[in-house]
Amino acid sequence: MKIAFYDTKSYDRIWFEPLAKEKGIEIRFLEAKLNKDTVRLSKDCDAVCIFVNDSADKDVIKALDQYGTRAILLRCAGYNNVDIQAAKNKIHVLRVPSYSPEAVAEYTIGLLLTINRKIHRAYNRTREFNFSIHGLMGIDLKGKTAGVIGTGRIGQMTMDILKGLKMNILAYDVYPNPNLDVRYVELTELFEKSDVITLHCPLTRETKYIIDKKAIKRMKEGVILLNTSRGGLIQTKDLIEALEQGKFAGVGLDVFEEEEEFFFEDCSDQIITKDAVIKLTSYPNVILTSHQGFFTQEAMKQIAEVTLQNAQDLMENRKGENGLYDNEIRE
Ligand code: NAD
Repeated sequence: MKIAFYDTKSYDRIWFEPLAKEKGIEIRFLEAKLNKDTVRLSKDCDAVCIFVNDSADKDVIKALDQYGTRAILLRCAGYNNVDIQAAKNKIHVLRVPSYSPEAVAEYTIGLLLTINRKIHRAYNRTREFNFSIHGLMGIDLKGKTAGVIGTGRIGQMTMDILKGLKMNILAYDVYPNPNLDVRYVELTELFEKSDVITLHCPLTRETKYIIDKKAIKRMKEGVILLNTSRGGLIQTKDLIEALEQGKFAGVGLDVFEEEEEFFFEDCSDQIITKDAVIKLTSYPNVILTSHQGFFTQEAMKQIAEVTLQNAQDLMENRKGENGLYDNEIRE
């Protein structure tokens, strides 16, 4: 089996290369992201392997189908960048549904603690021998309320840690989990009562802009908002407007609506002209990081193992559990 591996970085090779060799899988590592212009680079491959900012839209899938590509292997959990309907009955789409919920949950809490206690600002100050603590005051999190939207794997792990911080938790999910010791409420109540709001639902048609002007208006003044899920959950324009009105004590973002253009790349030599990026990286109470919540050794190891297992299952016509739909397709 030959796989075209899009949006490759050196840290991907470390985990995938030795394992692929072991399994007799040939990988063509490509730096380009998958899109309608780069899809031809996979013409002679059996599968393409993609990450969060590649695009497998209708046109790309049409081309892949014409090349006889058997599978799109997502080396991530979220699949909002694949047109599932277009792929149905044409190309298998397999993903890594769960690799390390701990990685993302721990990172979310890292953002929360940093934003709340302004550790990012203190770090910069002391490097310049500025030992003033003016403006660095936070709040005790103990006894405050955290609203968790999406109580799947990452949401649950995040709630476990929040409970350790002795926070009260309100949860919202379209499929409440009766086995969880947590109070589910309507979204409006969660917005109105939470001191911290953290997003852990997937990006779907229903959740796009779940945080918009209307939602933000319902939130408490001085709320902390965290998004380690997908950028499209937040209407960036509305977020920036509210930030400029002083609504938020802090905002921690590991994902961003227009991240494709920037994330995972070193743009430090460029003049950035996108207003939203300039603003979000300059406000003192916002931390914007480059979609690194998943990035731990344990997660990378598991992503590589499961992705290549998915490829192997396909090669040996085994029906694994990580396909996104029941597909009757070419072998
Ligand atoms: P999961 O499938 O285990 O949980 C998602 C939960 O969201 C489910 O309980 C589901 O019922 C709920 N949900 C679905 N639609 C909803 C809606 N309209 N409103 C409220 N809840 C809804 O997924 P997970 O493993 O916990 O991952 C959550 C998300 O985290 C992924 O979809 C992905 O976008 C993101 N993620 C980010 C990183 C990162 O590096 N920052 C890494 C992995 C995953």
